[in-house]
Amino acid sequence: MREHVKSPWQEALPELLEQSRALSAQGKVADYIPQLALAPQHALGISIIDKDGRVTSAGDAGLSFTMQSISKVFTLILALMDHGERIFDKVGMEPTGDNFKSMLKLELVEPGKPFNPMINAGAIVISSLIRGDTPELKFERILQFIRRLAGDPSITYNHDVFLSESETANRNRSLAYFLKDNRILEGDVEQHLEVYFKHCAIEVNCEHVARMALIMACDGVDPATGEQLIPRLYVQIAKTFMVTCGMYNASGEFAIKVGLPAKSGVSGSIMAIRPGVAGICVVGPALNEKGNSLAGVHLLERLSQTYDWSMF
Ligand code: GLN
Repeated sequence: MREHVKSPWQEALPELLEQSRALSAQGKVADYIPQLALAPQHALGISIIDKDGRVTSAGDAGLSFTMQSISKVFTLILALMDHGERIFDKVGMEPTGDNFKSMLKLELVEPGKPFNPMINAGAIVISSLIRGDTPELKFERILQFIRRLAGDPSITYNHDVFLSESETANRNRSLAYFLKDNRILEGDVEQHLEVYFKHCAIEVNCEHVARMALIMACDGVDPATGEQLIPRLYVQIAKTFMVTCGMYNASGEFAIKVGLPAKSGVSGSIMAIRPGVAGICVVGPALNEKGNSLAGVHLLERLSQTYDWSMF
C-alpha cells in the first residue's frame, strides 16, 4: 500500500473536472424513466482507484446513482460463472451500431437472438439465465456479487427507481415478449423483467464502481486481498464487450478518443478500466444524444489525452 504517495492525477483532477462540468448545460438528463429525471443536471464526479489502493476522487463523487446499464457487465460475468460460454447460444458477440433500446436487428438478421449482452435485449436474456429458483433469489445473487466486488455489504437497490422503470417500460416489455416469442427467453417474462429492472436500480457511488472496475483491471483479482473474485477469462470477455459495445453506438468514437474498456448507464455513469493500473468511475447525469454522459465522456477524453491512457 502506498496510500501516502500522491497519484499522478491528484492535483490536476479537480481543475480538469470543473472544465468538463461546463458541458453539462448542453446535455439532457434521462427522463424516459421518470425517477431518473430528478438527478442533478450539473453534477459531475469521478473516482479513480489504483492497484496500490490509492483513491483519488473529485467533484460530486459522493453522489448516489443507480447502475443502470453498468450492471449489465456484472450480470454477464455472473451468467458466465453460472453457465460458461454456453450463454452465447442465446446472445451474440457483435456490436449493433443502433441505440441501446433498438428492436431493429432483432428481426433483421438472426431472428430473435440479441446481438450482444450490452444492449437491453441482450441484457434481459442474460438476466433470465442467472441461476436461482425465483426472481428474488436471482436478484439476491446479483446483489451479493456487486456488494462483494464493491466491498460494501450495505449496497441495495433503489425501490423508487425500480418501480418507476417497471411502470413505464413499454419498450423493454416489447423487446422481452418478442424474445419470448422467438424462444430465446424462456419462462415468465415479467419475472425476468423484474430481475433486470432491479439490477439496473442498484444504487452506488463513484468509489463503489471504481472498485469494481479495479478488480476487472486486475484480471479478476482483488489487489487488496489477492483473492480471485472473477475468473480471468470472463473478465477478458467482459472487457472486450465493453470496448466493442459498452458505449452503445458511440463505442468506436470512444475507443479512438479514450481507448479504454468502458460501460455507460443512463444515470450518466461510466465505468472505465485502465488494464493493470486502475478502475475509474465518472458520473454526470446530463447525457448526449447517444445516451452517454456528456461531461463524463469529455472528462475521460481529457484525462486519456493528458495521461496517455489509451491502450491502443
Ligand atoms: N434500465 C435502463 C433501460 O433498460 C438501462 C439502460 C441504460 O442504462 N442505457 O432502459
